Amino acid sequence: MEYLKVKCRRCGNSFHLYNRDMSHEEKPPMCPHCLTRMDKTQWERLIDAYFTFAEVNKNFRKYHTDRG
Ligand SMILES: [Zn+2]
Repeated sequence: MEYLKVKCRRCGNSFHLYNRDMSHEEKPPMCPHCLTRMDKTQWERLIDAYFTFAEVNKNFRKYHTDRG
């Protein structure tokens, strides 16, 4: 998964977040359309969800490979 498509709650436009942005060290991203910053709680939840999903994906591929 290379990026995540996020919809801004304020202006309704979508933008992309990339792997390198998905870190608890990073500040919440700003919508490039209306310059609203995502709130911190929402951002942390998004990161958690992202990593959970990435992990599931990885395990799935591993399972697939193990089966040969
Ligand atoms: Zn926006």
